Amino acid sequence: MPEDTSYDVDLLVIGAGSGGVRCARIAAGHGARVAVVESRHWGGTCVNLGCVPKKLMVQASEYGDYVQDSHGFGWNTEQGAFDWGKLIAAKDKEISRLNGIYVSMLEKAGVRLLTGFAHFENAHTIVTKPTALAPDAKPERITAKQIVIATGSTPSKLDIVGAEFAITSDEVFGLKEMPKRVCIIGGGYIGIEFAGIFAGLGAKVDLVYRQALPLRGFDEDMRTALHEAIDQRGVTQHVKASPTRIRKDGDDLVVTLDNGSDVTVDCVLLATGRHPKTAGLGLENTRVRTTEEGRIEVDHHSETAEPGVFAIGDVTNRLNLTPVAIAEGHILADRLFAHTARSWSFDTTPKAVFFTPPLASVGLTEEEAAENGATDIYLSKFRPMRHTLSGRERRTLMKLVVDQATQKVVGAHMLGEDAAELMQGLAIAVTAGLRKADFDRTIGIHPTSAEEFVTMRTRTRVRGS
Ligand code: NDP
Repeated sequence: MPEDTSYDVDLLVIGAGSGGVRCARIAAGHGARVAVVESRHWGGTCVNLGCVPKKLMVQASEYGDYVQDSHGFGWNTEQGAFDWGKLIAAKDKEISRLNGIYVSMLEKAGVRLLTGFAHFENAHTIVTKPTALAPDAKPERITAKQIVIATGSTPSKLDIVGAEFAITSDEVFGLKEMPKRVCIIGGGYIGIEFAGIFAGLGAKVDLVYRQALPLRGFDEDMRTALHEAIDQRGVTQHVKASPTRIRKDGDDLVVTLDNGSDVTVDCVLLATGRHPKTAGLGLENTRVRTTEEGRIEVDHHSETAEPGVFAIGDVTNRLNLTPVAIAEGHILADRLFAHTARSWSFDTTPKAVFFTPPLASVGLTEEEAAENGATDIYLSKFRPMRHTLSGRERRTLMKLVVDQATQKVVGAHMLGEDAAELMQGLAIAVTAGLRKADFDRTIGIHPTSAEEFVTMRTRTRVRGS
């Protein structure tokens, strides 16, 4: 690749989260001169304050179940005390290890690492400033032929009286003590996942959300089944409700809801969405445009309204999931420096919500598919084998959504143990556009829950026309 020495680097990536790191590494691998600026922590939200620590905490929260369930299998196990401090320390150690891996991966790829807060002087020049988390960072000015904004997002706080008493997912991973009573506001990904975590760890959990069912946008059958599963987990759900204020009463926090009730707890967790991190970036010194919600507008090549300035991941107006950011970063680096056009299927991006049991899905919901025409629905609800002996009241729900005209499986959904692990494989089938007959001719693995996806023969209903 010919060097353009009129710039310090060919590519400057702002933000060392999942998307930014992938973009920088792939670009460097193609021979580009690449720099990355990071203001806070290497690895971004997913590694430090998101997917990774969350999953470790979900796993921690499930050990109590295993102890209880083991009795039905003949074990005389006793549940000891749970040590929150020990979990947080172990989790922090693992995250430090991952931070180190991110740094060494970038260094090995030949990427120049800069610590500081990036600010656009113009569309090709960035100055880095020290940040509260990196106060000694040396300010630098760096010019780049192309710049990628991969700054991610940050939790939104509700604009209500007393919001300052609440924490968000940014603080929850570092709590010094485990709260005994938690009120979680929001029935989206984070609200549901933390309701599961805290309930599993033995806290009393109140979950408040403004819809009748959790996870707006997911398949209705799955939402209904999840609602039941949340009840079974012992979480108190306050549906069609929103907080109006939070006040401190001695050591307690009292959340007042718009239905008139009060919820008294030790900790309030706001899980009401995230907003893109663009403040202070100096976008006004470029032609980059943002939506009303502040998301950076990009075209299908991830390019902003400013030629040569790109944006990927949560800071954009596209689907905000880690693997999507990674794919966007990879595609962009390939296109800019290797001129290859790899094909990816964003339409069949699988999703998982790590409640206990988890919910996972790929493709269309029944409601979405029915808008396109007649849709065959296959449903199966059963008690997983483990719980025939454990005695735990937990059901698995599986669902296939099939376009009647083409017989293509356009959606697969599951609430049940290992749903996320299982959905990855089904996502390949749905991405490949396989038909119900292809599922039917696939031999199951016995005895598993997964085999149900290839043995559902009787159509439950037809939807749409
Ligand atoms: P979500 O968008 O998933 O959910 C937000 C929740 O807050 C919804 O229940 C929403 O209600 C509610 N809400 C929003 N505004 C208000 C308001 N003003 N008053 C009352 N309720 C409100 O956001 P999360 O914060 O849970 O997660 C942020 C994003 O992070 C997710 O969308 C996802 O992209 C990502 N994520 C992914 C995970 C995964 O892949 N497993 C895990 C965690 C996060 P309503 O539905 O009515 O709008």
